[in-house]
Amino acid sequence: VLANPLRPAILAAAKSGLLERSITKAPVTRRIVDRFVAGDNREDVLDVARRLVGSGRAISIDFLGEDTTDRAQADATVQEYLSLIGDLGALDVAPINGAAPLEVSMKLSALGQALPHDGDRIALDNASTVCAAAEDAGVWVTIDAEDHTTTDSTLAILATVRKDFPWVGAVLQAYLHRTEDDCRELCGQGSRIRLCKGAYREPESVAFQSNSDVDASYLRCLEILMTGDGYPMVASHDPAIVAATGTYSRDATAVEYQMLYGIRDLEQVRLAETGATMRVYVPYGTAWYGYFMRRLAERPSNLTFFLRSLATK
Ligand code: FAD
Repeated sequence: VLANPLRPAILAAAKSGLLERSITKAPVTRRIVDRFVAGDNREDVLDVARRLVGSGRAISIDFLGEDTTDRAQADATVQEYLSLIGDLGALDVAPINGAAPLEVSMKLSALGQALPHDGDRIALDNASTVCAAAEDAGVWVTIDAEDHTTTDSTLAILATVRKDFPWVGAVLQAYLHRTEDDCRELCGQGSRIRLCKGAYREPESVAFQSNSDVDASYLRCLEILMTGDGYPMVASHDPAIVAATGTYSRDATAVEYQMLYGIRDLEQVRLAETGATMRVYVPYGTAWYGYFMRRLAERPSNLTFFLRSLATK
């Protein structure tokens, strides 16, 4: 089965500044964005965080932003993460199956990786600053995966950060041909790996293109992580993947499920109620355009809903 035929066009639109300006200005967009994004500011996301944690779910909060080409913006992002971590540390929530219930997720391209000079070093320094604060606050950190041109740099930065903060997690994308090897490399003791299908537009030379090939790759990668010595974080809304995860005899302290805020909420609650660790990825901030477009690209029904709302206004 081929992926959603509109996916490449929507993912191309996700990179268009012109479309970004018109779509983010359309008043109706806001209501639909609110389904996937927990508000513009820290106060908004902390309300959502309290509600999710109150229902027995763990959370990973992402301050939206990516592809920063401005040093001051990268520094401001670090400051926002430090404030967020301070606020999360004050929530005082008990661990879930031994896992930290509170986590932040961050994109290295928002921390300076895409800067023209010294991007890798700046992103490394900034990531380390965030990780040091998180360690003090008892908050975990996972580094998101972006498009394939960043994978080598991101995994190299991860390896360096993990020398000081071995608990820091990373994301691997099953649609990339390289990912089975990366899973083998990163399935050792203490290694926290979030496995997802992958959300960017990638060429055939590096990534599987059909849904069935991506799903098969996901299951092969899952097998490597679930039979390894690390801590797999199974990030998917796909019932087949959730079911496959349940067939491995891992105890609830050694694996977690992860889904996105606003997607399959009832299934999230159901999994948490079985005693599993269920973590919800919760984005906030005003730079939601790229994230929102990737969600539209994933699911034609989201797009239809969005277009219909625009047409009725
Ligand atoms: P899909 O193939 O999109 O969906 C499979 C099935 O899931 C559907 O057929 C349906 O049965 C069910 N489903 C999906 N959506 C819905 C819905 N709205 N309502 C009901 N059922 C639904 N991608 C990256 O590239 N980098 C990252 O760092 C990254 N981090 C992520 C973190 C988390 C916690 C999660 C959950 C995803 C992350 N992603 C990331 C996105 C990921 O790569 C996929 O794009 C996204 O999760 C969609 O894939 P899926 O596995 O849910 O399956």
